[in-house]
Amino acid sequence: MKKHLRLLFFAAVLVPCAVLAVLAVRAIDREEAFLEKRLQGALDVELTHAVSMMQDEIRRMGDELTTTAPAEAGSDPRAALAGWKKMSPLVGVPFLLSADFRILWPTRDSFLARSDLSFLNWNREFVTDLKPTPIFQNVALLYRDQIHEPPATLGKGGGAGEIDAKEKTAAPDSSTRGAAPVATPRLLSAPPAAKTQASENKAVQTALAKVSEIQQDQQALAEFEQNDAARKRVYDEAAKKGQKAETRTVSPGAGFQLKADAGANRPESIYISEPKRFSEVTAGREEGLIPRFIEDKLTLLFWKRQASGRIVGCVVEDAAAKSRLLGRLPAVYSPARILTVLDENGRPLVIPEGGSTRDWRRPLLAREVSEILPRWEAAAYPADPGALASQARGTRLLMGILIAGMFVVIAASGTVILNTLRSEMVLARQKTTFVTNVSHELKTPLTSIRMFSEMLKEGRQPDAEKQRTYLGLMVSETERLTRLINNVLDFSKMEKGKRTYSKMRLDAGLLAEAVVENERIRLEQAGFSVAFANAAGPAVVEADAEALRQALLNLLSNAEKYSLSIKSIDVEIRRTDGSIRIEVKDRGIGIPPAEAGKIFKEFYRLDRSLTARVPGSGLGLTIARRIARDLGGDIECLPRDGGGSVFRIILPEAKPR
Ligand code: ADP
Repeated sequence: MKKHLRLLFFAAVLVPCAVLAVLAVRAIDREEAFLEKRLQGALDVELTHAVSMMQDEIRRMGDELTTTAPAEAGSDPRAALAGWKKMSPLVGVPFLLSADFRILWPTRDSFLARSDLSFLNWNREFVTDLKPTPIFQNVALLYRDQIHEPPATLGKGGGAGEIDAKEKTAAPDSSTRGAAPVATPRLLSAPPAAKTQASENKAVQTALAKVSEIQQDQQALAEFEQNDAARKRVYDEAAKKGQKAETRTVSPGAGFQLKADAGANRPESIYISEPKRFSEVTAGREEGLIPRFIEDKLTLLFWKRQASGRIVGCVVEDAAAKSRLLGRLPAVYSPARILTVLDENGRPLVIPEGGSTRDWRRPLLAREVSEILPRWEAAAYPADPGALASQARGTRLLMGILIAGMFVVIAASGTVILNTLRSEMVLARQKTTFVTNVSHELKTPLTSIRMFSEMLKEGRQPDAEKQRTYLGLMVSETERLTRLINNVLDFSKMEKGKRTYSKMRLDAGLLAEAVVENERIRLEQAGFSVAFANAAGPAVVEADAEALRQALLNLLSNAEKYSLSIKSIDVEIRRTDGSIRIEVKDRGIGIPPAEAGKIFKEFYRLDRSLTARVPGSGLGLTIARRIARDLGGDIECLPRDGGGSVFRIILPEAKPR
């Protein structure tokens, strides 16, 4: 039954609780993931916007340089170039090339500023078409048509040739391509072919074609971003053609402390580089911006073809370009996030106050800015990276505590319920046994009384001595009956709290002696040796004489009932620490120490073969203890040296008057 109950308890309560707990934890995880996604989504929108703003600014700067660049430097290029530099703060070091890429200005033989010298130093070989420089292209747009195609059909139409063709048609200037997923409109002016189209129809068609082109670009970028397989395919294809995939300067996704390891590897850049000569870059185009890494520092070269075929250009002024780009950024700092731009070396262009200790290369989210600004990243960080993590930890902890608390409460209340049930069942069983025992106890003395009284009535025992003995036995059996009935009645009174005591000053020694003497004949007839000793002298206590007598009788009755071979009862009176002790000692079967506390419980009987044979209600000690306590004392049960038990009633000694 116990096992059954436990199983039922587990199945009905703990299992659903465990399931609930698991569901709760999952819900938290999902909620966290959802919040994170939402934050990322919001940041992504901001970053995309920031990137498109910067791309727009790059286009504007290109336009500005194009319109301000001297149309024809004429015979005095120096003055025209100086005028250009004066006019536009974007112009750093202007230069002029002949149609066959000879440097016309700055020349080594003229008086040169240090900036001119440095220009020649770093760019001469490139602009004179002697050495190529890595040119960056958006790989997703470069291989746009192949992103959707299965790998088997990749490369159809002849590899590099096809790319070249595409560059010349679909991508007239690689530098005009936008960063993922924002496909910017053409950065600079359209190729000359478009300008010559006179028919309006044609213009509309061209515009429509452009729109669809942009749409396709955007689709390709989105697909490239989401489809790992397509991405891998495209990078592999680029690698086959010797185009180098750059590694990004940041590891996005590392903003949350919870995922400290996430994004530890830097992903590949969407911009691949391929060495190209100046003649290749400028072929078929009118103007452009070329990013160059000079000693790890990004420099922009602007160029424009003049009517004569000469090429005028400049190194773009770094500080001016940066300040214009930053001018288009949204607020760097908001309570939720930090949004900034990292330069080619992963350093933020603007550092918000107090954010300088951050690992800038590990943003939550980042977007590459443009192929004109390779390695630049628009990056977003949680304003307080610890806050999100600690909030998540806090929620988890709280949930953990709640779940643990719930388990503890359920387990505790379950245990209490189980125990209550068990003790109720035990009590019910004890009550049944009690009824059987009491009936038995009533029956035994009644039988003897009836037997002796019938014998006396019928005059079957003429011996006067024997007749007296019979009468004596009848009296003591009647007393036993009375005691039993008193016990039962008293117990029910005590249960209802209705038992009253009439306390008076009395000598407990005298009272105990009287009780012992009263029982002596019967006990001795039953083979007991009975001894009484009073070491206390007058032992005055405040007590109800009848109740105290009843308690003592119960103890004596037990000493008699639970003695087997050695039938000896000692009653002693002592005085210790202001209390009077009445001890009833026997040499009976004794009580195991573990049971000593339990025997005072109502209906409790030791589970022994002897107890089973001895009639009893399980109430004797309960009542004795209740009386002792009601009289301001207590009762103890101790093992007796040499075997047997000692029951000790302790009562406070009354103060002398
Ligand atoms: P009962 O009517 O069974 O005697 P009690 O409340 O007087 O009820 O005693 C409770 C149990 O304590 C008894 O059943 C018995 O097992 C044990 N007990 C009481 N007194 C003694 C004793 N003197 N020696 C051994 N066991 C005892």
